Amino acid sequence: MRVLDRVAGTPMNALTWACGAIIVMVVLDGLFNYWRDILLAQTGQRIVGRLRQDVFKHLQTLPPSEFESRRTGDLLTRLTGDIIMLRQMLTDALVTFGQAVLLVLGLGIAMFCLSVKLGLITLIAVPLTVWATVRISRQIRQVTRQAREKESAVANIAHDVISAMPIIQAFNRETAEKERFARYNRSTIRAGVRATRLESKLYRTVAISSALAMCAILFVGVRSVVHEEMTAGDLLVFIAYMRGLSKPMRRISKVTGQIAKATTCGQRVMELLNIQPMVQDAPDASELPPVAGGIYFEQVDFAYPDGRRVLHAVQLDIAAGERVAIVGHSGAGKSTLIKLLLRFYDPTDGRVLVDGVDLRSVTRQSLRRQIGWVHQDTVLFGLTVAENIALAHPDASREQVIEMARRVQADRFIDTLPEGYDTLLGQSALTLSGGERQRLALARALLHQPRILLLDEPATGLDAVTRRIVSETWMASENQATTIVICHRLHEMDRFDRVILFDQGRIVAAAPHHEMLRQCPDYAQAYEADRMEADAITGPEDRVSC
Ligand code: ATP
Repeated sequence: MRVLDRVAGTPMNALTWACGAIIVMVVLDGLFNYWRDILLAQTGQRIVGRLRQDVFKHLQTLPPSEFESRRTGDLLTRLTGDIIMLRQMLTDALVTFGQAVLLVLGLGIAMFCLSVKLGLITLIAVPLTVWATVRISRQIRQVTRQAREKESAVANIAHDVISAMPIIQAFNRETAEKERFARYNRSTIRAGVRATRLESKLYRTVAISSALAMCAILFVGVRSVVHEEMTAGDLLVFIAYMRGLSKPMRRISKVTGQIAKATTCGQRVMELLNIQPMVQDAPDASELPPVAGGIYFEQVDFAYPDGRRVLHAVQLDIAAGERVAIVGHSGAGKSTLIKLLLRFYDPTDGRVLVDGVDLRSVTRQSLRRQIGWVHQDTVLFGLTVAENIALAHPDASREQVIEMARRVQADRFIDTLPEGYDTLLGQSALTLSGGERQRLALARALLHQPRILLLDEPATGLDAVTRRIVSETWMASENQATTIVICHRLHEMDRFDRVILFDQGRIVAAAPHHEMLRQCPDYAQAYEADRMEADAITGPEDRVSC
């Protein structure tokens, strides 16, 4: 006190010191809070950014079947919305929770120091608070899970509708889709409100238990003052502490609800991370050296994860440089064979070998680097035309890209685009025609001169002229790749070295076209029917392959 007197001097001096101290404290408090917020935001953003990157990276390791069974909207909701809720917990809720708990502990100790009896009475609020927190938090987690699932359903519908808008408009489905969307949207809102109701129930319960404790304190405290076991001043201080407790307690209850919500979102993100890739590189996997392109399916059996057996003891030897057409009914298993070659899946039994090397023993990247794949649903990305062509070969020079576009006769339409090869394609390149997209996909597959070329119904939906251009490109003499083409149409099968007829996951016949016509009545019949259909539609002179 004497030290203070010496420093402060006169009462006016003391007042000046006090005001100065208040200003310094406020400035320091502001600075501290500012840096705390910045630091928290940076840390939270970094953790969330990293997590999102990891989830995205993980998604890319999953087999196509995961994306066939999971809906895009659900994946996007988990990758964006759920992760954002986690960030809120990391940047906000956890710190608020920590601060409030520290404050409660500090005040609790001070209250016990003042009066052990009243301190113990205060604890009567604890069981009710803990019980309500545990019980209501569990309910909040359940409701939040339902709400997030409904959010995913809304995102799925939005994705379906946006990606199929022309069909929806053509079939006058706008009202029906609007109502379907509204139904899910309403249920999302209801689930969200239910979660908020539970949060406020938790808040109320904590407030009621605090009020109960306060009544007990008043009752016992006033009696203690009357019986002179305690001074009125001590009781007033105790009550002031008690009032101080209510704010952090309320904050704890509020933040507990937020943490319960964020925990559910965290679980949903973890569910994605816990999906194990079905095909992984073996720990001792080696790089597949440059191959000649010989392919051997050795007694291959295959069942999809749902257990349905699709391939049965497939035995097929394709020589390097051979051109093979695979034909057969829908669902016979033709595309599945290609998926095994790309190692989207491994055979359930048997082996797939390239140049005598079991594909299980090499890295998937080194294998896929040597394969060109054109799928019937051409996917182009929101990149420039040149970048789309050079997708698998980003180091390709502009000359190589232009040369390949010329080979697939895509150069003519590319030159008419506003910025030629630098034209940015919209999502899925919907501004291009089917034939134009297909030519870009073929240029992409051929650019890196793959040793193995897989074409899965590459001419589906193309007109006769475009079909001819596309098929002549892959058949061109400079392209020496082993080529497997899945065909539905049987024209010009004589251009292939061999035709493989598939039925219900089995190879029924494999021979050059003319032998197939002699040996295999089913094939001859299908060929004749297809030829007649093509003649009826286009006239005999327009017949082209696949
Ligand atoms: P299409 O000519 O119509 O494209 P396909 O001969 O290429 O048919 P596949 O796509 O290989 O046939 O399919 C063979 C069978 O496997 C079909 O019955 C199909 O329903 C089933 N199938 C395909 N993909 C999956 C999957 N991811 N999960 C479960 N079953 C699948």
